[in-house]
Amino acid sequence: MDSLVHERVHSNLATLKLDTVESILDSYLESALSEGKSAIEILDYLMVQEINARKASIIEYRLMLSGISARKNLDDFDFTFQPSIDQNVIRDLRSLRFIHNCENVVLLGPAGVGKTHIAIGLTVDAINGGFSAYFTTANAMIEKLKMASNRDRLDRCLAGYARYNLLVVDEIGYLPLDRKAANLFFQVVSQRYEKNPTVFTSNKAFGDWGEILSDSVLASAVLDRILHHGTVVNIKGESYRLKKRRMSPQQSSAGGQGKV
Ligand code: ADP
Ligand code: MG
Repeated sequence: MDSLVHERVHSNLATLKLDTVESILDSYLESALSEGKSAIEILDYLMVQEINARKASIIEYRLMLSGISARKNLDDFDFTFQPSIDQNVIRDLRSLRFIHNCENVVLLGPAGVGKTHIAIGLTVDAINGGFSAYFTTANAMIEKLKMASNRDRLDRCLAGYARYNLLVVDEIGYLPLDRKAANLFFQVVSQRYEKNPTVFTSNKAFGDWGEILSDSVLASAVLDRILHHGTVVNIKGESYRLKKRRMSPQQSSAGGQGKV
């Protein structure tokens, strides 16, 4: 190839930010030409590589900003340890149909049964599936909203939480929310209602949410919206954290989950 043309192609690829094509062009062209590939096949291959690399870097970027503390995966979840979880329900959630259909998910159960693990796993699945997703604890979210409210930036902060294709709110109920906090929580729920789905986890039964939110009327309004379109996974079992400390882990009675 004419070296001037060769240089210009590389320089133009760099200007167009087609970094992957730029990096593989020379070696790929050599092998493709020797294999007798047509110009359209070569162009097609190079474009596919560029698009795949961009998708991978968007996924990596979203994972980095997703708020997850560890990259837990649902492939690593031991369902035999937690028989109250219906694997078909989890399989269906992993298909991400709930995101397409804008259905919420509520994971309920005592400490250590894997609520956070499953919630992180769904965040990772959603991002790998091309969605934007953000994982937060209820308290971290409320703190951010309170701070934004004090700085007259509440609307912008709420819009930020409303925007994600999937929001995951972990640990509802570990600490009770005061009236202002409960109201902020309600605003997040209502802004996402029927627009974008949310995954919630809690160690408290729905009957206790009035106490968590310091207001039973507000709790009804919140639950009404969350449960209108949603799946509840009620996990009843042993704490996985205590598993290794026990000689023979006993698995307790079956729980239940399904559409509501
Ligand atoms: P929870 O949020 O319900 O309190 P976590 O999801 O934080 O529980 O689980 C506690 C720890 O045990 C985490 O490190 C999690 O990855 C692990 N864990 C829980 N359940 C399982 C399971 N069934 N298979 C594999 N790891 C599990
Ligand atoms: Mg947890």
